[in-house]
Amino acid sequence: MSTDQRSDRTVAGHRLVVAVDGPSSSGKSTVGAEAARRLGYRFCDTGLLYRAVAWLAVERGISPDQTAALVPLAGEVELVADRRGRLRHVEAAGRDVTAEVRGPAVDRAVSDYSKVPELRAALVPRQRALAGDGGIIMAGRDIGTVILPKADVKIYLYASPEERARRRAAQRKVAGNETAASGILEDMRRRDTIDSERETAPLRTAEDAIVVKTDGNTFTQTVATVVRTIRQAEAIRGGDRGR
Ligand code: C5P
Repeated sequence: MSTDQRSDRTVAGHRLVVAVDGPSSSGKSTVGAEAARRLGYRFCDTGLLYRAVAWLAVERGISPDQTAALVPLAGEVELVADRRGRLRHVEAAGRDVTAEVRGPAVDRAVSDYSKVPELRAALVPRQRALAGDGGIIMAGRDIGTVILPKADVKIYLYASPEERARRRAAQRKVAGNETAASGILEDMRRRDTIDSERETAPLRTAEDAIVVKTDGNTFTQTVATVVRTIRQAEAIRGGDRGR
């Protein structure tokens, strides 16, 4: 069966809800977006919502403990779809801030904001509404555990901190710069610790998640594994419904 026939079949019937979780720079966003493209699914990067809130808060001088001022910021951020329906851009107070929110300042600040339970609660219904009728890959930290616990497929992307720091350094074009690279590794470990140890919706592997280890894999190999996993689940769903 050709790739095109497969996506036709997907469009016709078994459009699943797929949760992809994992730590920072594990490849959730790039792998998830490419897998979604190949499957004809929508893609949603929920990290952008938290990043945009953190960016707005820093801009306005609101600290993580100023809950009453912080929570309403959730209403000022919006994911926007590109031509292919991928939710990979974010607006804050009506302006596209995707580039700004991916910068090092937000990297450092975001986890201190995203551990605030009231802020997380404000963002839960927004994320659930985006999942709609399926045909979506949603990436984040708590998608399989909290946001979409009934997702048809749950994938946890694992990569070691060193591998993730290398990827991030390459993205930032500072590979080979020892000081910048060790700063990235340090920030990443700090963010991992806060994200996994927070009380509300910590990063952890859902019991029914499939763990995909990506160290040593190329991007293409990881995408292929994710696409294969989702297609297998589609086939099983199709079989179940036919009975
Ligand atoms: O995925 P990304 O690294 O862009 O996420 C940025 C931060 O947003 C994470 O470190 C985490 O603190 C927070 N986040 C979260 N829950 C999600 C997605 C992101 O807490 N579903």
